[in-house]
Amino acid sequence: MAMMTHAAWLLLIPASFTVGWLAGRRGGEIKTGTRVSRLSNTYFRGLNYLLNEQQDKAIEIFLQIAEVDKDTVETQFALGHLFRRRGEVDRAIRLHQNLVARNGLSEEQKTRAVLALGEDYMRAGLLDRAETLFTDLVQMGVHAPQALRQLIAIYQFERDWHKAIEHALRYEQTSGEPMSKVIAHFHCELADQARLENRPDQAREQIGLAYAADSHCVRAGAIEGRLELAEGNDAAAIRAFERVARHDIEFLPEILAALLGCYERRGENARARGFLLEMIEHYSGVAPMLALAQLIQRDEGIEAAQAFIAKQLQQRPSLRGESALIDLSLENPANDPSESLRTLKQITDQLVVRTHSYRCQRCGFGARAHHWQCPSCKQWGTIKPLHSAAGD
Ligand SMILES: [Zn+2]
Repeated sequence: MAMMTHAAWLLLIPASFTVGWLAGRRGGEIKTGTRVSRLSNTYFRGLNYLLNEQQDKAIEIFLQIAEVDKDTVETQFALGHLFRRRGEVDRAIRLHQNLVARNGLSEEQKTRAVLALGEDYMRAGLLDRAETLFTDLVQMGVHAPQALRQLIAIYQFERDWHKAIEHALRYEQTSGEPMSKVIAHFHCELADQARLENRPDQAREQIGLAYAADSHCVRAGAIEGRLELAEGNDAAAIRAFERVARHDIEFLPEILAALLGCYERRGENARARGFLLEMIEHYSGVAPMLALAQLIQRDEGIEAAQAFIAKQLQQRPSLRGESALIDLSLENPANDPSESLRTLKQITDQLVVRTHSYRCQRCGFGARAHHWQCPSCKQWGTIKPLHSAAGD
């Protein structure tokens, strides 16, 4: 019997591990008594169904086991788990409710049943009931990390960000898992809410709390920038937007237009140029380069802008950059066509060399030379010539 109890636990363990364990254990069981052997045969049949994703048959078998051996709580747990996994939440709820109400269970088994029942309620969308159970568990100090994780999910769903923050902090304390990035997002939710409801002071307070939780929170900077922009505080908006791009340059396109507007209104031309130069260094796209070209064209004329883009494109050729250069050449009345063509030819040659001519059709790996075996996904014959802009 003890073996049964032990084995039922396997249901909660990933299949790959179970199979190995099974192979190791099978030989040893033959010596045990006939009942155990019969039961374990039944049990392993059930396990096989389970591993083959034949959950209907697995449930049938485990119901039989539960019938033969009514005391085996672990079999009940296994069944409840199966019911829930199969989407039969009502059955799981009934089973776990019975376990919770049953006499003679250890404290550990009882609280585990409460946890499982709470998870059933979550699945059924009965969030109020789930919240009550998980809150009880947290107060008792058992299964606290799991219960807190579920509570955080509930409060996120209900958009109760204050409670979400409170429970995320407690989760961080009990589990040791850092939650500061998530907590910063919860503060950002509150900040955005306050911003949209015209409560700028509360919005600023939440932005400050988001930064306190995660000093690199990009979203806090974006909300702050938008808030200050709407309030007409261009200087503060500039600080916020610049901070966003410096914390995560991939968000540059999100804030660039608004930021350029702020520089313009404040006449901060030198600062704008300095910032764009800094971004060109680190950003892989062409957006800051094109923005700077526009400033150069405005301040120094079209020739200077053309020269700037041409120089940039020698270092980092791009089709969009080339297109902008062609626009300027067409726009410039004093343009020397053969000079322009020479520059464009140089850049285009570079583009052709740099562009991948082959691509793996399975994993998307790009290569300049052909490989019969993909260096990335190791498949044979999946790399084929590309017919792209630079292909032939
Ligand atoms: Zn591949």
